[in-house]
Amino acid sequence: TTAGFAHQARPMARQAVPVLLKAQAEFLDYGNTGMSILELSHRSKDFETLVNKAKEDLTHLLSIPDNYDILFMQGGGTTQFSAVVYNLLAAHRKLHPSAPANPLVDYLITGSWSAKAAEEAARLGANVNIVINTKKLRGAYTSVPPASEWRLSGPDAAYVYYCDNETVDGVEFSTVPDIDPAVPLVVDMSSNILSRRVDVARFGVIYAGAQKNIGPAGVTVVIIRRDLLVGPNSAASPEGAPLRPLMLDYKTHADHNSLYNTPPMFGIYISKLVFEWLKEYGGVTRMEETNRRKARRLYETIDRSAIYKSVVERESRSRMNVTFRIYPEALEKEFLKGAEARNYVQLKGHRSVGGIRASIYNAMPLEGVEELVTYMIEFEKANT
Ligand code: PMP
Repeated sequence: TTAGFAHQARPMARQAVPVLLKAQAEFLDYGNTGMSILELSHRSKDFETLVNKAKEDLTHLLSIPDNYDILFMQGGGTTQFSAVVYNLLAAHRKLHPSAPANPLVDYLITGSWSAKAAEEAARLGANVNIVINTKKLRGAYTSVPPASEWRLSGPDAAYVYYCDNETVDGVEFSTVPDIDPAVPLVVDMSSNILSRRVDVARFGVIYAGAQKNIGPAGVTVVIIRRDLLVGPNSAASPEGAPLRPLMLDYKTHADHNSLYNTPPMFGIYISKLVFEWLKEYGGVTRMEETNRRKARRLYETIDRSAIYKSVVERESRSRMNVTFRIYPEALEKEFLKGAEARNYVQLKGHRSVGGIRASIYNAMPLEGVEELVTYMIEFEKANT
């Protein structure tokens, strides 16, 4: 489900078709080099220019302040579950030399991806404090509980981690967690980056696997505040502390403009095209408005219906992954069958939670959502 512009309700309703056409048009001859992007050397001037343009456009789109670096890494979101631990613990040692050897790290668990990230931190030996776990608290990942229920460990934590949009569960934060500004805030925005404006200055690290709102799987974008860059062999990695693999080290990539080794060139290239396209579209401001309207249409339809039911609390409903159930449950299979017949594909909920999930990432236009809503209304009429 992860290639480029995945989770389309209808293949031709792709908002980013211009990107695909541009890639097609210059596939055999990239920028008058006489070569395909697939043949170009990553050490060429042309490719470095491409990387710099991608960074410049992303900086513009998200208004990234000067004291941040953008890295293009590999290994997907899952690799960041580990990279965050290594890098942020070293940063903590650098910034607080007298801190305990294994400080607390705070994790908010609001869905299956943040749960996996917290598990990985614990597996690597970090001292994990669970700030909140909605499954334990409420029986399911269906909300972002109010801050009054959080158990943050305070100013001594090495970092606070959360997932802004839980792709599987359809749970999204409506605001940035209000934490001690001295503690670096780390966020997984894999499934909602560039879908709305964000105050980057609130974060130590923002990361996102590219495959939802940016480009092909294989690129992971990391936006990091420069004071958190340490380096794999620095004094902040004392003997006895876990070693930091070179390729997981943010400074390795920052020092080499994401060209330390051969980067995922084609993915970075498509990402650059998507950034250019989004700028032309009207940037994140316009995209945020489009996404707000798309999500509202679906949730309105669900809330008015007698057979569709959203299980996520209203304030925490995702604008990217609209999850819902159909009652009686036997109708879900029928719904999916009818949808497929209309070419509305990949609407089946994640295998771990079931139900229906309409993933309406940036590439899905409002018209695609309108078509789905029309089908939902017809289906309800036919089945009640
Ligand atoms: N975080 C989130 C929010 C995700 O949606 C995903 C994948 N869908 C991941 C992490 C894991 O990403 P990857 O498959 O690139 O490792």
